[in-house]
Amino acid sequence: EGAVYGHLPWPCQVMVLLNPHSGAGQALHLFKTQVQPMLTEANIAFSMFITEKHRHAWELVREENLSRWDALVTMAGDGLLYEVINGLMERPDWETAIQKPLCILPAGSGNAIAASLNYYAAKICLLKEELLMSCTYFLCKGLHAPMDLVSLRTASGKRLFSFLSFSWGFVSDVDITSERYRKLGRARFTLGTLQLLTTLHVYKGRLSYLPAEEPSSMSSQGEHSRLSAQNAKQVSLCNGKPVPSHPQQGCALEDPLLVPFDQPLPKDWMVVPEEEFVSIVCIYQSHLGTDLLLAPQAKLYNDAIHLFYMTAGVSRMGMIKFFMALEKGAHLTLNCPYLHYVPVKAFRLEPFTLKGDMTVDGEVLACEPVQGQIHRRISHIITG
Ligand code: ADP
Ligand code: MG
Repeated sequence: EGAVYGHLPWPCQVMVLLNPHSGAGQALHLFKTQVQPMLTEANIAFSMFITEKHRHAWELVREENLSRWDALVTMAGDGLLYEVINGLMERPDWETAIQKPLCILPAGSGNAIAASLNYYAAKICLLKEELLMSCTYFLCKGLHAPMDLVSLRTASGKRLFSFLSFSWGFVSDVDITSERYRKLGRARFTLGTLQLLTTLHVYKGRLSYLPAEEPSSMSSQGEHSRLSAQNAKQVSLCNGKPVPSHPQQGCALEDPLLVPFDQPLPKDWMVVPEEEFVSIVCIYQSHLGTDLLLAPQAKLYNDAIHLFYMTAGVSRMGMIKFFMALEKGAHLTLNCPYLHYVPVKAFRLEPFTLKGDMTVDGEVLACEPVQGQIHRRISHIITG
C-alpha cells in the first residue's frame, strides 16, 4: 500500500474556509488573534473564504481550481469539513481531488475530529483554545496522514460521504435539539442531553451489518446474541453476489460491500435481533464530541466502523452513567446490558417509522433507510 504519511510543501499556500457562525460565533476573531500570527510565522500563505450560507463551502470546493492550493483548511465545527469532503467527492475529478490534504481548525460546538486527532497524537483531552492551538500547530508542521471515509446511500438515492459518524435516536436528537443553545458552545450538548433524558424515546427499525472480523473470532459479543442474515426470519436468502450498481447519483466510487435496498443482504451479514433502540451510532474516529470518547480504539485509518447501539429498556440513570463514562471512554466497562458494540465494515439501518432526524457528521439527514460502508484511506488530513 506504499507510504502513508506526507508533508505539505514549504512555503505553502492554503485555502481557508471559515464559518462565522460556528460554535459561539467567535471563529473570525479567533482566527485573527490566535491562528493568523502562527501561520505567518510558519510561512503559510492563505486566502480566506467566509461562508455566507449553509452548503456554501460544498459549492465553493466543488468548483474551485484546486491546483492553486496545497491544502484546504476549515475553521469551523465538523459540519464545514463534511461539506468540503462532499464537495470534493461530487467533482468529476473526485479521485484526485479527495487526495488534497485537508485540515480542521476547531471553532465549532462539535469539534469531534479535532479532538480525535489530538487524542491520537497526545492521548490527552484539550478544550477550546488549547485544542485550536494544537491543531494550528499541526498545520504549521504540515504532516498529513490518510483517513478512512464512509460512503452512505439512502433509499431515496442520496449519496453522501462521512468522516466521523452516523447516528439515529438519542445521540442525533441531542445534536439537533441543542442547536437552539448554539451560543453556549460545547455546553449545548450537556443541556440538550439533560433535556432529552426527561423523555427517552424508542426508535424502531432493523439494523444489520457486515462484521469486521470473522463471527467466530468476535469476542466482545457472543455469536448467539444475533442472527446471521441467512437465518433471520425477516430476511430472505441471498442468491447472488453483491451488486454494486445503484441508481447513480454523483460520485462513481463503487461500494462493493453493499447491495441495493430491494435486494436481500449477502449471507455474511448479521441482523440485530432487537428492533427497539434508544440510539444507534456508527463512529469511525475516536471522539463523538470534544469530550465524548466513544471509540477509544479507533484510528485515523483502521478500516472499521465502530457500531454502538443502545437497546430500549435502559433507564434514565443508565443513560446518565453512560454519558458520564463517555468522558473517559469507560462506557464499555459499565457492562450495561443495553449497550452493544461491534466493529463492522458495513451497515444497513431500516427504520420502521420515519421518526426523528438522523445526523451525518453532526449535520441533519431526514430519516429514511440508510446503508454505508467504509473506504480505507481515501482522504488525507493534517495531523499531529
Ligand atoms: P458547529 O460545530 O457550531 O455546528 P459547523 O461548522 O459544524 O459548526 O457548522 C454548522 C452549520 O453551519 C453547517 O451546516 C454549515 O453549512 C452552516 N453554515 C456555514 N456557514 C454559514 C453561514 N454563513 N450562515 C449560516 N449557516 C452556515
Ligand atoms: Mg456541527
